[in-house]
Amino acid sequence: MSELGDCLEAEMVARLLDGDLTAEERVPLEEHIAACEKCYGLLTESTEVWWRIGKDAPDDDSS
Ligand SMILES: [Zn+2]
Repeated sequence: MSELGDCLEAEMVARLLDGDLTAEERVPLEEHIAACEKCYGLLTESTEVWWRIGKDAPDDDSS
C-alpha cells in the first residue's frame, strides 16, 4: 500500500540521530522522513530529547 516503506521505529530514529547508521542505511530513512509527517514529527521530538541527553550525559563507553 505504502510506497514509503515501513515507518521508523523509535530505535531507528535514535540510531539515525546517533550517527549509528551508514549512509546507505540512512538515505532511505531520510527519504521516508521527508515524505512522512508522522516520522518527521517523531524525528523532531527525538531530536529534542537527544539534545537533552547529549547535554546531561557525557558520552561514556564504559559498558
Ligand atoms: Zn513514516
